[in-house]
Amino acid sequence: MSDKTPTKMTMGNSRFLHEACQALGYSDQVFALLSGASREFKIQLPLLRDDGSLEIFYGYRVQHHNALGPFKGGLRYHPSVNMRDTHTLAALMSLKTALVKVPFGGAKGGIDCDPRKLSHRELESLTRSFIQKIHRGIGPNRDIPAPDVGTNDQIMAWIQNEYSKVYGHSPGVVTGKPLLIGGSEGREEATGNGVAIVMHAHAHHQAESLEGKTVVIQGFGNVGMYAAKAFRDMGMKVLAISDSKSGLYDETGLDIEAICKYRKSGARVSSYEGVEKITNEKLLKLPCDYLVPAAMGGVINETVARELKAGVVVEAANSPITFEGDKVLITRNIPVLPDILANAGGVIVSYFEWVQNMQQMPWEKEKITEELNSKLLKAANHVFAVATGKECSYRRAAYLIATKRLQDAVAITS
Ligand code: GLU
Repeated sequence: MSDKTPTKMTMGNSRFLHEACQALGYSDQVFALLSGASREFKIQLPLLRDDGSLEIFYGYRVQHHNALGPFKGGLRYHPSVNMRDTHTLAALMSLKTALVKVPFGGAKGGIDCDPRKLSHRELESLTRSFIQKIHRGIGPNRDIPAPDVGTNDQIMAWIQNEYSKVYGHSPGVVTGKPLLIGGSEGREEATGNGVAIVMHAHAHHQAESLEGKTVVIQGFGNVGMYAAKAFRDMGMKVLAISDSKSGLYDETGLDIEAICKYRKSGARVSSYEGVEKITNEKLLKLPCDYLVPAAMGGVINETVARELKAGVVVEAANSPITFEGDKVLITRNIPVLPDILANAGGVIVSYFEWVQNMQQMPWEKEKITEELNSKLLKAANHVFAVATGKECSYRRAAYLIATKRLQDAVAITS
């Protein structure tokens, strides 16, 4: 690596990308080009709180590469949001869209706020002021935000409305919107369902069945909850789930239906009564067939990777395994279904939503389900074939495919 590298990417991704570039015979300059971003925004967002006090937040957007199509990626509202991680996550989006062949580039953004501590009015005001300041940088053919950690369809609705005040009705500026204003059937559950589709494809590839297999999920947000429902529908036993505080555990399998109802009532899943409580730390080390981290990044480090007792790890979150953790899992022969494949269902259905917006023609749910399955299965089988052919991890295979596709497009267009 030359001293011009690495760039602002952190977590394991920059090193995974570096390994892929080396394996593909790319120069340090190409690595620097692919790991760096096209541009970044950092925007001061003063907010007048409901109690009359003034609080300053910062909004971020990193546009990584757009050789394959408009920049695309989520907006995260979380106190930990910062420029470095936003770079990492933006690059991950470029690799994800390249891997699953949706004609988008990669981007990521967010605001360093805790949405649970803001009122509805405060959240709306913060979101609208972010868009007032960034609207020239986004757009249906430029950069299309979507939900991520701490954001939802209501926030996307405010973004669409604020942007449309300047440019006229523009549903394609954002995905993950409410159905009523141009959102897509199946978008909310797409990431969780996609995780289940990839796991099913992997089991099929191994000539195994998921029926009766045990699964542990960290996180019960939009991704973890819909994944849990899909696992239950496939006959799997969900042993444990959690939120950021703590988890629930039942060795005979949790009642997912009842817990979902409880969560929908606005309560935290960790305060659900009548089952054993477990810490997030212990949850990651439970014996199970599948461990599904579906919350924040970096939770499976070297130490956790050494101690976990899962047959397969499935990255429903972005970057839940560190570079060092990944190496440990490789030496322990524990397969990992990597984030850029396992959680790509969300951006795939975002693409379908955008197509529907551009064509002003909604699709039936059946069509969404069919097309999502088809896109994910093609990508998964490609990853499995490359991993088998090159005798490498699924992550390495996914990075080889995505990095080459991205670089080929960058080379043609630059
Ligand atoms: N935030 C999701 C992700 O990380 C979805 C992004 C999108 O739909 O643009 O993949």
